[in-house]
Amino acid sequence: MSNKLIIGSHVGMSAPAYYVGAIDEALSYGANTFMIYTGAPQNTRRLPTNEMHAAEGIKYLAKKGIDVKHVVAHAPYIINLGNSVKEDTYELAVTFLQDELQRVADFGITMVVMHPGAHVGAGVEAGIEQIIKGLNTVLDNDTSGTIIALETMAGKGTEIGRTFEEIRTIIDGVHKKSQLGVCLDTCHINDAGYDVHDIDGVLDEFERVIGLDYLKVVHVNDSKNERGAGKDRHENIGFGTIGYDTLLKYIYSPRLAHLPKILETPYVNGVAPYGHEISMIKNKVWNADLKAELGEK
Ligand code: FE
Ligand code: FE
Ligand code: ZN
Repeated sequence: MSNKLIIGSHVGMSAPAYYVGAIDEALSYGANTFMIYTGAPQNTRRLPTNEMHAAEGIKYLAKKGIDVKHVVAHAPYIINLGNSVKEDTYELAVTFLQDELQRVADFGITMVVMHPGAHVGAGVEAGIEQIIKGLNTVLDNDTSGTIIALETMAGKGTEIGRTFEEIRTIIDGVHKKSQLGVCLDTCHINDAGYDVHDIDGVLDEFERVIGLDYLKVVHVNDSKNERGAGKDRHENIGFGTIGYDTLLKYIYSPRLAHLPKILETPYVNGVAPYGHEISMIKNKVWNADLKAELGEK
């Protein structure tokens, strides 16, 4: 276990360089890890992994000294394993996920973050039941070994995963627990109503309800909204209601030191903020002028 800060951001995965381009983007930010969607986040169309330069990327990662075990994938946010109302939506989520686990493994990546799902009016219990059914269908027949990290959600609309208890209930119902993990998103837990500033309180609660062994990745985002707003709107580091000092506590907590920290903060005036934010984090110096420097109007 290294004590080195493991930090990166969401990066693009687009033509023509795909995986190699994603790695270059991460390196340009001074990151030593990153998160990709294996295609567009808002749809499920995917190219064969060889066309996205999977094998070439794995070699490139090794050459650049990035440990692929810290690299994370994210499932498209439109898939919904929790939909018990529309069979087609649920089936698409299952089918996509089955392929995604192997696709991710082709990139050498060991974990994919997924929003648990939304119950779309059927109620939390029915939604959770459907998610469990879906995860078992996918994992019982999986040979990739890829971990699905269920993300803690803000509770927007009918989203499931707003509380640690909901995540725990899902885990309890899944047979192959070795392939389950959790992604803690600081913006989401704030918007869901947790007191994000009490980091030890949050982590103690996580340990009590889920178990910190399940925690695989931390999404570090500030929030545009007050605690409990149920909104899910990310803000740049230090410009929201969570604030720079609290976010730094998560980033440098010894209890989270072994986990990748991924920024999903918004672009400023069309410019990616990640290089600036990562240097602000590494130097432990807050830059109040960041948005102005990035050309905010
Ligand atoms: Fe997410
Ligand atoms: Fe997130
Ligand atoms: Zn979010």
